[in-house]
Amino acid sequence: MEEEKRRRTIVCKRCKQTYTASSNTKTSCRFHPSFFVCRRHDDQKRYYELGPDDPPYAAKFYDCCGAEDVQAPGCTTSFHISYDDNE
Ligand SMILES: [Zn+2]
Ligand SMILES: [Zn+2]
Repeated sequence: MEEEKRRRTIVCKRCKQTYTASSNTKTSCRFHPSFFVCRRHDDQKRYYELGPDDPPYAAKFYDCCGAEDVQAPGCTTSFHISYDDNE
């Protein structure tokens, strides 16, 4: 039964990728520990190219690392977490 459990495909609660318990390592899950926000960068130094429909103050980026693409790969890696895990 243990073997079956190890091979079971699990969906990660954080990144929504599927994984198996046996392939889950501390670098398996890439994610952003903070939210994608819409405001000025804290340091005010970064350049953000506004789209034609953006208000002049708009800047959208991850609060953790400043990545401006919502699809940007995570800046932090850790183990995947399953929906069965307690936080
Ligand atoms: Zn990040
Ligand atoms: Zn994950």
